[in-house]
Amino acid sequence: MKIVAKITDLQLFLTEKRAEGKKIGFVPTMGALHLGHISLISESIKVTDITVCSIFVNPTQFNDKKDLERYPRMPKRDAELLQSSGCDVLFLPEVSEIYPNEDTRKFNFGYLDTILEGASRPGHYNGVAQVVSRLFDIVKPDVAFFGIKDYQQVMVVKALVKQLHLPIEIVASPILRDEDGLAMSSRNLLLSKEEREAATFLYQLLQKCKLLKFDGRLISEIKQFVNDELSKNALYRLDYIAICEADTLIEANEFRQNVTYVALIACYVGKIRLIDNLMLGNS
Ligand code: AMP
Repeated sequence: MKIVAKITDLQLFLTEKRAEGKKIGFVPTMGALHLGHISLISESIKVTDITVCSIFVNPTQFNDKKDLERYPRMPKRDAELLQSSGCDVLFLPEVSEIYPNEDTRKFNFGYLDTILEGASRPGHYNGVAQVVSRLFDIVKPDVAFFGIKDYQQVMVVKALVKQLHLPIEIVASPILRDEDGLAMSSRNLLLSKEEREAATFLYQLLQKCKLLKFDGRLISEIKQFVNDELSKNALYRLDYIAICEADTLIEANEFRQNVTYVALIACYVGKIRLIDNLMLGNS
């Protein structure tokens, strides 16, 4: 596996590969890699010829400085994991390489930017759009791979590609979970043993939401249930539980037939904010 820090080195390599007719796959990450990330790498290896993974903890998408500071960084271990997964190139740039000047671009995603993560983390998706558009411009991939774990992010990236008329296919991959159901996340590394054990409850609650929907319960009842359950333990602080139309992310007040819904949760476990989601089916 090639490891590059400079844009010019990366582009030299990729221009050559493109001239050979190779299809370029791209997996942008912030590192502290786990099997969820590796599943995206594997998907890219399956459907493209050259797989590029970037590791870049993007400062512009963190509205909380402390969150940025404590975000786990382990590039050596990440490189070993990528190497053994069959990744072709690791792009590991410094902040000054991605942002030689301050990025002042403002994106507009309308409704998508104002709800859920957009509401809780003001400016977050503008930062995501800045870094993803910058990385797309550098790598110029044919296909880019994102995880449904960040459901809203996938929708924002698809909107970005449309707005900028980029010839890039976006593939959304399923959530990989630990054995107990907790969605894999780099932030899980920051949980204490007690918090880690408690964190699995978020997935159990999402599954319960699905069962309650099958039982014909109202959305308000389901959300109340989640609120009540989480308020029983001081380790949890619920940020939001939302039930949205899966295609639009428009928040639903009642279930309609033939519409697919997704339940999305953001909750602090101790000091660590975790997100997860589950499709609720459309019966
Ligand atoms: P991150 O490093 O957290 O920015 O994530 C990089 C990519 O990996 C994003 O597209 C995430 O949605 C995806 N990802 C993160 N966690 C998982 C997971 N548990 N399963 C599948 N993909 C994931």
